[in-house]
Amino acid sequence: MTGTAADETRAAEVISASAADVTSAAARVPDLPTLDHAIAGCRACPNLVAWREEVAATKRAAFRDQTYWGRPVPGFGPPDARIAILGLAPAAHGGNRTGRVFTGDRSGDVLFAALHRAGLANQPTSVAVDDGLRLSDTRVVAAVRCAPPANRPTPAERDTCAPWLHREIALLRPTLRVVVALGAFAWAAWWPAMSRVYGRRPPTPRPVFGHGAHWSGGGAVPDVLGCYHVSQQNTFTGRLTPAMLDEVFTEVNRLAGRI
Ligand code: SF4
Repeated sequence: MTGTAADETRAAEVISASAADVTSAAARVPDLPTLDHAIAGCRACPNLVAWREEVAATKRAAFRDQTYWGRPVPGFGPPDARIAILGLAPAAHGGNRTGRVFTGDRSGDVLFAALHRAGLANQPTSVAVDDGLRLSDTRVVAAVRCAPPANRPTPAERDTCAPWLHREIALLRPTLRVVVALGAFAWAAWWPAMSRVYGRRPPTPRPVFGHGAHWSGGGAVPDVLGCYHVSQQNTFTGRLTPAMLDEVFTEVNRLAGRI
């Protein structure tokens, strides 16, 4: 994506420069558009800010003519979604370039093709913020909103970013029925979010992540489904296939009451 002047002005309206700022700002935002703007203005993790901006400045050769987003990447999808797809963090040359989660990289190609097959996206591709992609009943979010080196945020960065996720889940709560955790990191990030938003203690022992793992919230809280992450490492090796994704999203549609 090319960041417009309006984007920059909007992002500059709210600057969170510390973990305390994130907690305070997240608690105040009244709706998802405001949350998205607040996230885009966050600079609370110095190492991630430096990394995302360095990547945006140096670029990958294939994208050298593009202006990278180089900021935190907000969630994407309607505010009344019944389904949340929870990923790890934006990719350096994907979301960090385009400004939309899972957009502009191979992981997104796999994910949005699966969502399209499941009737949850109007098109199978996700290449740029202005590509016309619309999701049905589905919001895609990340546990950490800035691209981390080696796709590995630190525990401190995960915890600093958590209030954004918790507020997003709280705003989706009236309609949210199912959460799909893409990978073990997202699976682990869900339980504190559930505790914080729904006031429910996480189950003990904590359910173990696995592809197809299903924890039922019994109607009081969303069900959680585990799915291998749509990373190239998983999809290129055949650990995660389109058929496996189709099974997961068929179950997601059933749990969400869509079929
Ligand atoms: Fe802010 Fe989250 Fe990015 Fe840290 S990772 S700077 S908390 S948006």
